[in-house]
Amino acid sequence: MEFIRNVLNYVEANDLYPDIRTVEDVPYPSLIIGGKEYLCFCSNNYLGLSIHPQVKEAAIAAIKRYGIGTCESRLVAGNLSVLEELERELAKFKNQPSAVTFITGFMTNLGVIPAIMDSPDPYGIYNLPVSIKDEDNLIINDFLNHQSIREGSMVSRSNIKSYIHKDMNHLEKILKRYKDKRKLIITDGVFSMDGDIAPLPDIVKLARTYNAMVMVDDAHGTGVLGKNGKGTAEYFGLEGQIDIEMGTLSKAVGAIGGFVAGSESLIKYLKLRASSYIYTSAIPPEQACGIIAALKIMQESSALREALWKNVRRLKEGLSSMGFNIIHSETQIIPIIIGSEQKCVDASRYLFENGILTPAIKYPVVKKNESRIRLTAIATHTDAQIDRALEVFFQMGKKFGII
Ligand code: PMP
Repeated sequence: MEFIRNVLNYVEANDLYPDIRTVEDVPYPSLIIGGKEYLCFCSNNYLGLSIHPQVKEAAIAAIKRYGIGTCESRLVAGNLSVLEELERELAKFKNQPSAVTFITGFMTNLGVIPAIMDSPDPYGIYNLPVSIKDEDNLIINDFLNHQSIREGSMVSRSNIKSYIHKDMNHLEKILKRYKDKRKLIITDGVFSMDGDIAPLPDIVKLARTYNAMVMVDDAHGTGVLGKNGKGTAEYFGLEGQIDIEMGTLSKAVGAIGGFVAGSESLIKYLKLRASSYIYTSAIPPEQACGIIAALKIMQESSALREALWKNVRRLKEGLSSMGFNIIHSETQIIPIIIGSEQKCVDASRYLFENGILTPAIKYPVVKKNESRIRLTAIATHTDAQIDRALEVFFQMGKKFGII
């Protein structure tokens, strides 16, 4: 175990260990840390639904009825009716014929990508007319796809290629070069560190031309993008046209879990082949019921979504007018590029000392010298809270020579 000591020695000597803060209470959009209130500008609770009274009530009622866990895989005895109800609601929400849930978004990608791109019959029991070999498969990722997609891709044992972030010429080159492979293009809908949106219409067009499947991880678009908050596909008018539409329930929906929406046969197949459906436990009942309530609130009114976008505009306009570089963010995820890792850590600590919680994001999460403070706006920030944060960002920018 000497390697552990060696790594920790290096990280600690260079002050690189992350600041993992202990949160004592969550009066969003503030958090209580060490008995003090901090304005949180890094939550994925984009609509504030995790503490919505109707969501809490639904979860409490579920605990009273079912307790707090399923304690079983869905295939054994964990297939509660509320999970099936949740899946019907998710399919409706995404305008897809069917949906299946997983315990987290990470586990969704880790199970679904290999289910699609590993051998469909690893034990030779389905008597398939044509066998698909690992070497026939090619996953094509946007370079900035989330880690869970990268790891799901590796587990699948497929060939993996990445195209330059959103570069459709590069994607086409890869598709052309490997036209005989069985291909899956995967992209984040909204990129989790840059806050920009994938060029889905172009991706879908190329996929059709070169006979590839398309999977979108819409963790950050779900509940946020599109006229009705249905996500990146709705934003581009591509509802029902994405082969594998993945999303998380841990962000705008305010809970925990992941899901895929798609055709009846895709969903049936995933229940047969996705390890993270078969070999792990399901979303707990109180989460399922809380999520059903959250989906209802999101669909009944656009008020929270409109409040979110108003806050995104206020925050972005303030930061841009001060001269911060927020690169190509198009959404509620707003990176402030700092550059050097140490400066980024120091800037994040300065913000914390002044009552604002925003993490320093460094290599390897983002490229070297692209360290950043990653901000997120949420619907329940008030104008006064945003203006207070902007004041502190301004002081930080001046102090560290960023603006
Ligand atoms: N995909 C993307 C794009 C993400 O940003 C995240 C979480 N940060 C995940 C998947 C994993 O989701 P979860 O937290 O629900 O496991």
